[in-house]
Amino acid sequence: MSHLPDATSSETAGAALVLVPVGSIEQHGPHLPLDTDTTIAVAVARAVAAELPGTWVAPPLSYGSSGEHQSFAGTASIGTDALTHVAVELARSLRTWADRVVFVNAHGGNLTALRASDEIEWVPCATEDVDLHAGFTETSLMLHLRPASVRLDRAEVGNTRPLREILPAMMAGGVGAVSPNGVLGDPAGASAAEGERVLEAMVADVVGRLG
Ligand SMILES: [Zn+2]
Repeated sequence: MSHLPDATSSETAGAALVLVPVGSIEQHGPHLPLDTDTTIAVAVARAVAAELPGTWVAPPLSYGSSGEHQSFAGTASIGTDALTHVAVELARSLRTWADRVVFVNAHGGNLTALRASDEIEWVPCATEDVDLHAGFTETSLMLHLRPASVRLDRAEVGNTRPLREILPAMMAGGVGAVSPNGVLGDPAGASAAEGERVLEAMVADVVGRLG
């Protein structure tokens, strides 16, 4: 009952909380689908809503700010300014009938946009802190959430150096400059069980942040 598009208008009046998942459509290496971040953000938001009565989950913002992945085919980015604008307008609209609107973000590239306005309240799904991109963590999450979408036979190790070491080259030349296959991390050993564990940890973290 928490899926906003299924609700009628009168059911949503005076809602306590609306969660808006925010993801991306961007390359996730040779083995994960373009909508990996969006899939993770939706899963976290739905699980959080299940624990917080009176919470609605809005349709996700599937497009994010993914300029650093633009040299890879499949990437579809709207950029930081457009994402900020969309989030602010959406929050203003939703707040006319809901007490609180929180964006649930699963893509590090969206952070500049989400931090750009006081009108945007957001929480992270800390996947991209664990390992950076299309590695062990995201592969495990997708094996848990949508296993048929994972091309495990095509999984390859990427650049495994820590973010602080590769950030300057990545800022200058994008992900392609530091990782020809688009992976930052190593999907080896990823499993659905690990994905389930990580998802539970992220959900508990978000529930805690929402207070
Ligand atoms: Zn991702």
